[in-house]
Amino acid sequence: MVSYKELGLVNSREIFKKAFEGKYAIPAFNFNNMEQMQAIIQACVEENSPVILQVSSGARKYANQTLLRYMAQGAVEYAKELGKNIPIVLHLDHGADFEICKSCVDMGFSSVMIDGSHHSYADNIALTRKVVEYAHQHDVTVEGELGVLAGIEDDVVAEHHTYTQPEEVEDFVSKTGVDSLAISIGTSHGANKFKPEQCTRNADGILIPPSLRFDILEACEKRIPGFPIVLHGASSVPQQYVATINQYGGALKDTIGIPEDELRRAAKSAVCKINIDSDGRLAMTAAIRENFAIHPEWFDPRQYLGPAREELKKLYAHKCVHVLGSAGKA
Ligand SMILES: [Zn+2]
Repeated sequence: MVSYKELGLVNSREIFKKAFEGKYAIPAFNFNNMEQMQAIIQACVEENSPVILQVSSGARKYANQTLLRYMAQGAVEYAKELGKNIPIVLHLDHGADFEICKSCVDMGFSSVMIDGSHHSYADNIALTRKVVEYAHQHDVTVEGELGVLAGIEDDVVAEHHTYTQPEEVEDFVSKTGVDSLAISIGTSHGANKFKPEQCTRNADGILIPPSLRFDILEACEKRIPGFPIVLHGASSVPQQYVATINQYGGALKDTIGIPEDELRRAAKSAVCKINIDSDGRLAMTAAIRENFAIHPEWFDPRQYLGPAREELKKLYAHKCVHVLGSAGKA
């Protein structure tokens, strides 16, 4: 049993409170390897932003949960070495059951998500309540979820959205004791968030996705005033990355994300945490494909992972400054 406090991590309570009052959102970036971690920390230190390091079930399988925890511990020291003691949360993304949440609490995570959204409402409450009771004994914060996002993210797969029902949120929050709530208002997992036929085209032929359901967000906010809300699946799928990937041999089709101005609007509301994963995947892949094409003689991974890390860092800094508004808030 190790407490996150000994590792220099923080839970999400204080940073969400500040984010709510300051009308911005904390970035939650997923990581699986060293280069992603370095890019996240470098960007957030340079922009003086608090940050949530997220570990998905896919990341735990790919990189090992223990190793990822030590990397997060290393990230705290790395940030200090870079000159800033920014608040860093280590968060379990989409915990599927009590056991995985408990194991993360026990090994030094400062925040966990229990995703009971595909259970019945009553079972979701019971499961979430159980995780909250355990996590709060260790001052670890808990994110719950109501409503189901469409799309694919690691092991989380759903064909269609089930929008959050605002009339459930107050009851859910009070019965479970969660610290934050992920809701479904039209964001979705993966890089294909909408089908082209769901979109309209502007004068330049660019696909414009349907707007997020701000009416649902506002109805939720009214029922749980001041309570931190979380948006999953909030990548914008920058089309310059998609173009670069496809220019250098990739075959991505129908990639459509959430427009950044909609996320900017959400960040000014009760949304205190915005999850971004796919955009980082696209940035790295674009940089690596381009460098492979231009430098076919390269075979040292540092030659192509270095520029990929640099592109990622630029992306994360952009998100903090222009999308979430978290720059300067550490
Ligand atoms: Zn998610």
